[in-house]
Amino acid sequence: MSPARPPSRDAVAAPPVPLTLAGRSGKPPRHLADLDLAGRRAAVADLGEPSFRAVQLSKHFFGRYTEHPDDMTDLPRTSRAALAGALLPALLTAERELACDDGTTRKTLWRAFDGALVESVLMRYPDRVTMCVSSQAGCGMACPFCATGQAGLTRNLSTAEIVAQVVAGARLLADGQIPDAPARASDDPPKPSRVSNVVFMGMGEPLANYANVVNAVRRLTDPVPEGMGISQRSVTVSTVGLVPAIGKLAAEGLSVTLAVSLHAPDDELRDTLVPVNRRWQVAEVLDAAWDYAAVTGRRVSIEYALIKDINDQAWRADLLGSLLAGRLAHVNLIPLNPTPGSKWTASRPAAQREFVRRLESHGVPVTVRDTRGREIDGACGQLAASSRPSAPPLPSAPTSAAPPASVLPSAAPPTSALPS
Ligand code: SAH
Repeated sequence: MSPARPPSRDAVAAPPVPLTLAGRSGKPPRHLADLDLAGRRAAVADLGEPSFRAVQLSKHFFGRYTEHPDDMTDLPRTSRAALAGALLPALLTAERELACDDGTTRKTLWRAFDGALVESVLMRYPDRVTMCVSSQAGCGMACPFCATGQAGLTRNLSTAEIVAQVVAGARLLADGQIPDAPARASDDPPKPSRVSNVVFMGMGEPLANYANVVNAVRRLTDPVPEGMGISQRSVTVSTVGLVPAIGKLAAEGLSVTLAVSLHAPDDELRDTLVPVNRRWQVAEVLDAAWDYAAVTGRRVSIEYALIKDINDQAWRADLLGSLLAGRLAHVNLIPLNPTPGSKWTASRPAAQREFVRRLESHGVPVTVRDTRGREIDGACGQLAASSRPSAPPLPSAPTSAAPPASVLPSAAPPTSALPS
């Protein structure tokens, strides 16, 4: 299960790249998404090209999701390869694609230049398209109920490696490869054809890779050609509660949503579920969250995975309710997703209902998170970057024409849990 282990040969399309020392210490190749527009202009000038070519390249990448020199017909034929080679190196190679929910949920396992494996998940809903992205290969936070946490940290992703996951999702949509989600009502708003939301809830602890994550948020939300033009309000950064970094994020002047993975209202239990709690305890984490809400005006999302007989007792719901009452917060309850080797399971429906009722009785808004992607190990806490198939793989990602929905696994079971 370790992301650092080269995948087994039979599961690999490209030859396995052994993780070398250079791979661990070397940096991913520089990409235009690592740079702001001024930096891209300077890089283009270094190649002896007029600096406005930086804008042209940026429009291709952020606006048309293309990295192929052949598509860049507005660039002189003689310069295309050099410009694309210097500023649009291939960073992530799709190693495996898995789909469920009739193709509207799609998980991609990516291989980076050094063999590191990360995953991203695209979820198309009637009214939005959410990309769940990884910020690190592996994770160092060691939460015992999370598959990613079991494997340890391999390395931080670069800004461009994070952005590239979203651009790849946007490309799948633009190519017509993700079918429409069935409309819930006939008066549903127009169907989204672009990535509308990004959540940093894939592999890794985003605030432990602070600079690259904040840079990626800027790239994702700056308008084309600087970036992709996604609304800051549609970006969520989720953290185990690294208090100093939450304070720093509050001061960035960004309107992104902060999600705090709390999972327990008391330090005794949280020390075991989220080990970093031994460093920053519940009260301190929540204080940082309320400061974030005060500075940004954004409601904080409190993530709480409901684990049967571990953290789902009525008294814990009441304690959580009393901590959150009157705050700019809402609770996102996540029915625990199964992870390999874990003895824990999701709460019983009755316990979940009672937990919701008690929070609501404190006036705290609550939603129960849908567990999209469960059957492809793409749901919260299941991303472990194993290259072993857990569901039938899709045919390797086509680059152009949209495949008909029928190529997707027809035996995919229905979503095991829906938003309530
Ligand atoms: N490290 C960050 C980003 C990961 S987000 C964080 O912890 O917030 C992934 C979310 O899914 C977190 O809220 C995490 O606690 C939760 N999660 C992890 N394992 C899970 C599981 N097995 N079932 C349900 N949720 C889980």
